Amino acid sequence: MAEYNVHLTACRQIAKGTMAFHFEKPVGFSHKPGQAIDLILPGHQTGTRSSDTRHTFSIVTAPEEDELVVATRIGESVFKHALCALPIGTEVQINGPFGSFTLPKNTERTSVLIAGGIGITPFMSILRHAAQQQTLQQLILLYSNHYPEDAAFLEELQQLERQNQRFQLMATMTDMEHSTQSWDGATQIIDSDWIKQVVTGLDNPAFYVSGPPALVEAMRQTLTMSGIDEDNVRSETFYGY
Ligand SMILES: Cc1cc2nc3c(=O)[nH]c(=O)nc-3n(C[C@H](O)[C@H](O)[C@H](O)COP(=O)(O)OP(=O)(O)OC[C@H]3O[C@@H](n4cnc5c(N)ncnc54)[C@H](O)[C@@H]3O)c2cc1C
Repeated sequence: MAEYNVHLTACRQIAKGTMAFHFEKPVGFSHKPGQAIDLILPGHQTGTRSSDTRHTFSIVTAPEEDELVVATRIGESVFKHALCALPIGTEVQINGPFGSFTLPKNTERTSVLIAGGIGITPFMSILRHAAQQQTLQQLILLYSNHYPEDAAFLEELQQLERQNQRFQLMATMTDMEHSTQSWDGATQIIDSDWIKQVVTGLDNPAFYVSGPPALVEAMRQTLTMSGIDEDNVRSETFYGY
């Protein structure tokens, strides 16, 4: 796998407890929307657990963009503490890109993307690319969060929906009683009735599920209950949440 040294160019908060980290894009680096990289922080020493300095992240940026961005919920782990403490300009190592969480070449099949929380990251690259290239594929995104405050990239997704006639956003906020923001969209969980409504009239759609382990497991069960063949479902599990 290719290794590159890159500099951190910016970091910014994109939702409650959620940060995006921007890096230079190395010369010769190219990825497919949906792929990931390993990010290796400086300071790896013998005796350090590798998970304290190395984590896998999906690439948020589209291949056309001239930087690499990853996004994560900031937790208590040694890795994330170290990541947040990096001064702008710090050199880090990235390995990749890798992964096959990518859309089929056949654009006639609708892809139904299901993201829970920070699981939105691989879909951002896919959806930015689709809007920029005006690809022919129909894309439906079901995006579930507790409330708007922690829904990363929500405004950008609403804008991408306006830019791309073949993209439909279905966002839901399942814990609005703990929100201070208003929300006039869906508040239900993604259940099999909703999935059945979404797939009505679609010819053999492909499903992509991304998020924490509990969400991915629940969605796989829901899709099975909705009559979706598991051969048509791919998932990316973000362990550690
Ligand atoms: C392809 C891929 C793409 C990812 N993209 C993103 C992304 O865009 N944004 C993001 O925030 N996260 C992403 N993740 C998850 C990310 O790598 C971290 O695991 C996650 O962010 C939690 O990190 P942490 O430091 O908070 O917890 P950690 O300290 O890494 O993990 C906490 C606990 O989770 C358990 N755990 C960790 N890894 C595994 C494993 N592989 N199998 C079983 N249990 C495990 C262990 O019990 C560990 O002690 C991705 C993972 C993969 C595989």
